[in-house]
Amino acid sequence: MKVPFLDLSRIDSELKEELKQKFAALLDKGVFSGGEEVDLFERSIQNQLKIRNAIACANGTDALELALRALQIGPEDEVIVPALTWVSTAEVVRIVGAKPIFWDTDEKGLLRADWVKAISKQTKAVIPVHLYGRMADMESICEAAKASKIAVIEDAAQAFGTTRNGKAAGTWADIGCLSFYPTKNLGALGEAGMCLTQDEEISKKIRVLINHGQVNRDEHVSVGRNSRIDTIQAAFLNLFLGRFDVFQKRRKDLAKVYLEKLGGLPKLGLPEDILADDHNAHLFVVETNQRDELRNFLKEKGIGTAIHYPKIIPDMEPYRSHGDFPNARKLTEQGLSLPLNPWMTKEEVNYVADSIVDFFRQ
Ligand SMILES: *Cc1c(COP(=O)(O)O)cnc(C)c1O
Repeated sequence: MKVPFLDLSRIDSELKEELKQKFAALLDKGVFSGGEEVDLFERSIQNQLKIRNAIACANGTDALELALRALQIGPEDEVIVPALTWVSTAEVVRIVGAKPIFWDTDEKGLLRADWVKAISKQTKAVIPVHLYGRMADMESICEAAKASKIAVIEDAAQAFGTTRNGKAAGTWADIGCLSFYPTKNLGALGEAGMCLTQDEEISKKIRVLINHGQVNRDEHVSVGRNSRIDTIQAAFLNLFLGRFDVFQKRRKDLAKVYLEKLGGLPKLGLPEDILADDHNAHLFVVETNQRDELRNFLKEKGIGTAIHYPKIIPDMEPYRSHGDFPNARKLTEQGLSLPLNPWMTKEEVNYVADSIVDFFRQ
């Protein structure tokens, strides 16, 4: 049996047919930027996540950069960022000319609770990341940020579908950022992203920024950029959104199989809380000090895995920053993402789990 980590060519044939029809309809219509599909997508997200403003844009990295620019964060400013995340979170801080201040994560990869110690006079914002789809402690982060008069930008790129007390990831902070990169829980067939905010002024600013600083046709009031979403991607996302609950249920059902089968292994750490509402089961990350051996063993059995991520950001050349980041670093050494996606079968998950049991018994 071969189990790829993720193979997007496996999208259900019924859904593939709908996507093709949608593309054909758009081709006949001739609208490729803006239009009804984009409006519908934004309204659907607003309703589903209970947020006043949803501004679709070109990708999740742009969403984060737009958030920083809308908050007027730039040179001389500092932004607190977890040491372990996808590079975008730190990259955007540098793109706007500000300085990322890295802080360690907790053992599960979320910004460590004592991050407030990193606040200085220059600090303008903190960017908690809901790594692997599990929500950071937004109550206490927002409270501490408010007390220190700094902004919160939520990197919810991995957390579409994650909620706590009914409040969706991405709707807690001043600005929430989503990515619809194809591998995310809600993924386009290309690139797309979104900013979320309750604040009308911020929303207006972002809308102007994504469209060349243009408030009315040919009236440019600021230096913006082009970060509009493709109409075609918005249309595909509208279709995927209609399937989202079904896909989430499949993810959770499969994650449950992993938890049941792998529960008894003393040398393997599991994402115990992955079935809870505050986790969208984006990634199933196990931990073991035999990570590389396990990964090779599974590879020989035809099973694809991934590492999120093999390096902490402050160890990367462009972001080099000294400091101790023990929890984040441990995850880079011990974390292994098992295949988990709506296009896997129970048989495949059983095969992966059985293979892992074999590895630890050998
Ligand atoms: C995917 C991701 C992003 C960036 O999204 P893109 O749409 O790929 O630009 C940012 N932050 C995190 C944590 C991500 O996982």
